[in-house]
Amino acid sequence: MSLSFELLGSDGLARRGRITTAHGTIETPAFMPVGTAGTVKAMLPQSVAETGAEIILGNTFHLMLQPGAERVAALGGLHRFMNWPGPILTDSGGFQVMSLKELRKLDRDGVTFRSPRDGSQHRLTPQRSVEIQHLLDSDITMSFDECTTWPVDEQTAAQSMRLSMVWAERGKRAFVERPGYGLFGIVQGSTFPALRAESAEALTGIGFDGYAIGGLAVGEGQELMFRTLDTTLPQLPADRPRYLMGVGRPADIVGAVQRGIDMFDCVMPTRAGRTAQAFTRRGELNLRNARHRDDPRPIDDTCACPACRHHSRAYLHHLIRSEEILGAMLLTWHNLHYYQDVMRGLRGAIESGSLCHWIAAFQNEQDRGDLPPI
Ligand SMILES: [Zn+2]
Repeated sequence: MSLSFELLGSDGLARRGRITTAHGTIETPAFMPVGTAGTVKAMLPQSVAETGAEIILGNTFHLMLQPGAERVAALGGLHRFMNWPGPILTDSGGFQVMSLKELRKLDRDGVTFRSPRDGSQHRLTPQRSVEIQHLLDSDITMSFDECTTWPVDEQTAAQSMRLSMVWAERGKRAFVERPGYGLFGIVQGSTFPALRAESAEALTGIGFDGYAIGGLAVGEGQELMFRTLDTTLPQLPADRPRYLMGVGRPADIVGAVQRGIDMFDCVMPTRAGRTAQAFTRRGELNLRNARHRDDPRPIDDTCACPACRHHSRAYLHHLIRSEEILGAMLLTWHNLHYYQDVMRGLRGAIESGSLCHWIAAFQNEQDRGDLPPI
């Protein structure tokens, strides 16, 4: 058996589960902080673990260009290289390579592209992507796919999805089965229910350890994203984890968990932490704003992160205005801690069968908005 997934409970369509990998277990629903280049930006690995995160995401595209997958393998794999002993999921490189536009050339077998770093030429195929993720020692390998752009017409979406399905099958053949390691397929088909259904059927026919929903959170909006999940998720096997790629804001995650998603990743909490944005139970706020200049209160007095336990809004505002690195570090920590608080809350609510009440309270607090100024 490669990866194991236990379904521990459910509340409506929402699931409480546990994934066991070669490097440890992941309680689901789970949020994965993004560690693009072998680091979750502005965070020590130990600090990431202290927020409650059990798995992080690494980027094949970035790591293959710098420092190179073979080098990481020679240095003991990505866990040892970056000192993150827990589970790691790597993306396939597909999303980044497709966004290179004029620097890449797509064919039936893969993509040839120039490195945006130094112009050197590289090639990614479904087989090479799986090989790179093996060299990185990733616990969860993602299939190499073409991430369909949005908006897109149905015919283009169909061609793109069918190419991804051919690639998914090639990647599966290239994947080396090992205990505690797994390969996920990615459902494509944009927002067309018939294409999503065709993609889900093709992938379940090949057989994967988990199933991701790709091609969402690309501009279609929350309503269309949720509608796509509503029609797609019932077509995926219940006994395998489901991962919604690149999502999202806290309210997107809550709505997707309610619909049966188990795993998420998003750059939002870390990126926002470097641009003075804080996610809180009372919505989003910008610490650069002058209203925080004289405010001795923490971002959130119920948050257990170091930014909230030890520092005032006024101090964080000062750090940001002074462009001090500590400002980005503390806000990133807070945001990752808040995201994990949301996940802890969701898991507890599913366990106790009170998800509807929890979501109502969550929305109520979000709608109240930030504390009034003092
Ligand atoms: Zn905090």
